[in-house]
Amino acid sequence: MSAPTPTRRFVFNPAPVPALPVAGREEFFPVHRIYCVGRNYADHAVEMGHDPSREAPFFFQKNPDTLVLPGDDFPYPPATTDVHHEIELVVALQSGGRDIPVAEAVEHVFGYAVGLDMTRRDLQAEAKKAGRPWEVGKAFEHAAPCSAIAPAAEIGHPQAGAIWLKVNGALKQQGDLSQLIWKVPEMISYLSGLFTLQAGDLIFSGTPAGVGPVLRGDGLLGGIDGVGTLSIHVR
Ligand code: MN
Repeated sequence: MSAPTPTRRFVFNPAPVPALPVAGREEFFPVHRIYCVGRNYADHAVEMGHDPSREAPFFFQKNPDTLVLPGDDFPYPPATTDVHHEIELVVALQSGGRDIPVAEAVEHVFGYAVGLDMTRRDLQAEAKKAGRPWEVGKAFEHAAPCSAIAPAAEIGHPQAGAIWLKVNGALKQQGDLSQLIWKVPEMISYLSGLFTLQAGDLIFSGTPAGVGPVLRGDGLLGGIDGVGTLSIHVR
């Protein structure tokens, strides 16, 4: 690797660093990668037609520039007629590494947020059927609405608590963090065996049952006890 070039000039201005607000602070949290865990609540695995037994966790990624910040709208994406909400606990890392032991994993956590793993379910289903990658279903523009990050220094490391989502006031998703098949420290440890985790990485930890479609004009309100809430308008 060559030494950094302080005077490097670019052929055009680089995109701004994607970043999330930190609850109660002026600083923003710069986002490096977004990892997502699939099927991490048994009742959601069942609703998607899968065996809820404790298979090895699997992961996909969203691009950091697909984050939707608190207060911004979710524009209904193109090329789909079946966009689903998936409310999820988001883990934000302040440091990383490889082969992180489960017992040390939470030391790497800066804080937690409430996120939505928005999914073009029709395109995801086609990809699954054809054995193709999931990006078209999962990594489109605005696919990752996220709340401000609540620092662990203030809220601790929640292991239980309601996780829920309402659409236009009607409760659609409801679960509890205690139902996570792979717990946060296990997720971090497992993921660090596959990738070099870094400060700024986010992990969307999976969704409980009740996923379903959103429509233009819908108001989504989700929350996790002890972490925060996330409100999004579909336009
Ligand atoms: Mn998900």
